[in-house]
Order: sequence, then C-alpha cells, then structure tokens
Amino acid sequence: MKSKLLHISTIGCQMNVYDANQIAGVLAPLGYTGTDAIESADMVVVNTCTIREKAEQKAFSFLGRLAKIKLAKPSLIVAVGGCVAQQEGESILKRMPHVDLVFGTHAIFRLPEMVRRIESSRCRIVDVRLSDTIDADGPVAGPVSDGQVSAFVTIMRGCDNYCTYCVVPHVRGREASRHPERIIEEVRMRVEQGVREVTLLGQNVNSYGSKEGLCSFAELLARVNDVAGLKRIRFTTSHPKDLSGDLIRTFGRLEKLCHHIHLPVQSGDDGILKRMNRKYTRSAYLEKIDGLRSACPDIAITSDFIVGFPGETDGQFQATLDLIETVRYDGLFAFMYSDRPSAPASAFSGKIAESVKHERLQALLDLQEKITWEKHQAIVGRTLQILVEGPSRGLKSDDSDSVSPPTRWSGRASSNHIIHFDVPDDLLAKKELLTGTFADIMIEGAHAHSLWGRLVRQPKNAAPGKGETTIAA
Ligand code: SAM
Ligand code: SF4
Repeated sequence: MKSKLLHISTIGCQMNVYDANQIAGVLAPLGYTGTDAIESADMVVVNTCTIREKAEQKAFSFLGRLAKIKLAKPSLIVAVGGCVAQQEGESILKRMPHVDLVFGTHAIFRLPEMVRRIESSRCRIVDVRLSDTIDADGPVAGPVSDGQVSAFVTIMRGCDNYCTYCVVPHVRGREASRHPERIIEEVRMRVEQGVREVTLLGQNVNSYGSKEGLCSFAELLARVNDVAGLKRIRFTTSHPKDLSGDLIRTFGRLEKLCHHIHLPVQSGDDGILKRMNRKYTRSAYLEKIDGLRSACPDIAITSDFIVGFPGETDGQFQATLDLIETVRYDGLFAFMYSDRPSAPASAFSGKIAESVKHERLQALLDLQEKITWEKHQAIVGRTLQILVEGPSRGLKSDDSDSVSPPTRWSGRASSNHIIHFDVPDDLLAKKELLTGTFADIMIEGAHAHSLWGRLVRQPKNAAPGKGETTIAA
C-alpha cells in the first residue's frame, strides 16, 4: 500500500485532542502516517472548535490559508472535522471550494470509507449525522507517541445539560456513555503501550452511565483503579450538580485517583447561575467544596468562569470575585462570554460591552494570580511526588537525541501542578529510566505560573517494564 502523509491540526478542548488521535487511528489502515509539515501532506484534517466565536474564526482563517497550498498541490485532500463541521455542514463546502470533506463529531468511524471515495473519484462529501449510541461506532484509540506517559480515554460523549450559553449539546449530540468493558479494554491497551496515567473524559463525567443504567462513575473509577500497571487516574469535567457523596468519598479511597478536581462553577451569583441553567446555587456549590476538602484535605480544586454573561451587573461580578476568595482555587480558566447562535443566551437582553468584559476578565485573573502565587509559596520547602513526563516543554522535539540532552525536566504532582527539575548528570544518559516513573522533588522555588525543585529520590536503576521503574530511597 502506498504510504501517505496526514497532517491533523487541532483547535479546542481535550475531546478534540482525543478525536485527533482516533482520526489518526482510523486512517492508518489506509496508509496514512502523521506529519507536522503541512506542505508535504497528502491530506490535511482541520479539527475545529466552536465553543467561542474566536475559536471558530481561528478555524476558518486556518482553512483559508490551505486554499493556496491546495492550488499548488491539487491532489491534497482537505477535510474539516469537529464542532464547526457539525454546526456548519454543507455551507463549508459552498463557502470554501478547496474543501473536499466535512465530517461531524459522530462521523469519525465513517472516515475511511469517505476518504477512499474521495481518493478514487475526487468527489466532495458532507457527513454530519448524529447517533444516540456510542459503542457501536467506536471509539477505538489511535497510536501513542514515543515515551507518552499520559493518555485521554473518553467515557462518554455529548451533553444533556443545555447550559444557556453553550453550544456543546447542539454539536456533540445527546449524552451517551460507553460500556465499562470497552473503557477498561482501552485503559489496558494504553498501559500495554507504556502509558502510566489516564484522564477519563466526558462533558459531565458525574452523570456517567445513569441514562443507560450502567455502573456509576464512582464504580467505574474503582474498576479503572484495578487495572494492573496503571499508576494514576484523572478525570474531567465534573458538573457540580451531579457530584455525588459517593464520588467525593472516592478521593480518599482509591490510591490511584489523583488529588485534583476540575469543578467549573461559571459564576458566583445565584441569579446568573439560574439564567445559565446550571441547576445549583452558590451555597450548594460551596457545600460540595467543603465535602471534597473533608474527604481529601490536600485536594487541588480548579474551575471555569464566564465573565460578562448577558445582564451581569457589577454586584453580580463582585459575587464571583468573592467566591474565588472564599474557595481559593489552585487554578482556573476564565472566558469572556461569547454569543453562540444556537445557544439560547444569544437571544438574552442586557449584552455586556466588550470593554467591560475585558476589565472583568483582567480583575478576575489578577485576583487568581495573587492566590496562586500565595498557594505556590506555601508549597516551597515541601517534597512532592511527581510522575515524570520528560524534558520540559520547548525542549522536547529532537533535543532528546542531541549530544547534550536537555537537563531540565518536568512532571506532574497528583494535584496537577507541573514541576520542573534538573536531572543530575549521572541520570541524563538514562532518560528512559526517568520517563513514566515517580520521582520525589523538593520544591525550591515558585512563581505564579511555575514551580521547580530538586530531585531527592531517584528512580532505581533496575530493569523496568516499559516505562515502569520503582523508586529507591
Ligand atoms: N462540560 C464542561 C462544564 O460543564 O463545565 C465544560 C465544557 S466547555 C468545553 C468549557 C468551558 O467553556 C465552560 O466551562 C465554560 O466556562 C466555557 N464556555 C462555554 N460556552 C461559552 C461561551 N458561549 N462563552 C464563553 N465561554 C464559554
Ligand atoms: Fe456545555 Fe453545560 Fe454541557 Fe458543560 S454541562 S458541555 S457547559 S451544556
């Protein structure tokens, strides 16, 4: 079979990163292997996001640039996938004559057949069919890269919550959970491939299995915890309304479950939460935070916020700042509200001026930066166990094979903090003994955005399994 090059450009969340891996996986049997160089690709897939207007604009501007490349190389197949593809469908073909294929969020498993048809007859195809089931058409995980320590495993897709600002239910379909057996199979396969940490993915993992009458999410976690060779489990995202007492207690119980939860609150004001259709109040949210901290005192808590939701007053925004002060998050993502045409809030009155949204976003980020800095300073002097991921970002690429390997490495603590450390000379030559192992790092310094320290316990120089090493004191 002729070997062909595939370039996938991904914009957006972890779901899209997971989907990109599946796209690579389903196209591999057709002879496609990945390339970073667009110019040499035989096929380019643009994996798009439409959660905010900016992400959508980014996708269209990238697609626009591909027109020139296609002109120079008419055999190039240009495909658009993800949430913009699902939302816009056929209109993308009309608007962009150089696009050959538009495939929606549920069409990844029909890709091989569609690509074969395009290769043989140069037709143009749109497939944005949504289905209510998930196991019948995958997912099947794609390849892992060399030394990859952590992988995403999707446990459900879609969302039934219909928050009034959000496009997800409209472009990812109704909520559907995978069978636990399929999930466990995928986790085992990842472990056999050398992965040591999995992040279970869903828009609202807390409601996993409830619709289909499968096991609860807490039970699923217990089963994943039993997979031999797996070191760590993470999950995202949790909806506060469905965070059960059972799941909260799981944090103290399962030894592989990392001590971190991402619990998006969006706003600290009850009126805004109601109009967002979030179905919890500020006080109910704070009760869950208390419960989490009682069950797992060192749990790290992060969140998402939207500023400038239609009708948000200064006082309501102050309530959000006050909530941040009260919870003292370990980190957060904050976004300026963006109108999404298919979401009900786009028709709400009381739109907030862009300049006000900018001011509120800055005030919120400044407050969190101060809290993060204070929390980081409190970690200095402590020793944290990290799962080593490899040379620090920006140093990876080909540096790993150069004569002088990068000395600054990084890994993640259970809390999800990224920690940098210098690798001693005697270990530098044996980098494979570090990646995927636990190491203890004494934290020596911290800024608001980074933490670094000294390796105090090194991986034992014993014959490990793939990526597996025990640690000697
Ligand atoms: N399912 C998750 C949840 O319920 O928290 C999050 C899904 S969404 C991909 C990630 C974040 O994007 C949301 O938590 C929200 O803060 C933000 N977001 C979603 N729609 C938005 C919009 N129209 N404007 C600004 N931010 C938005
Ligand atoms: Fe969007 Fe709300 Fe569903 Fe999250 S829970 S994906 S914010 S509709």
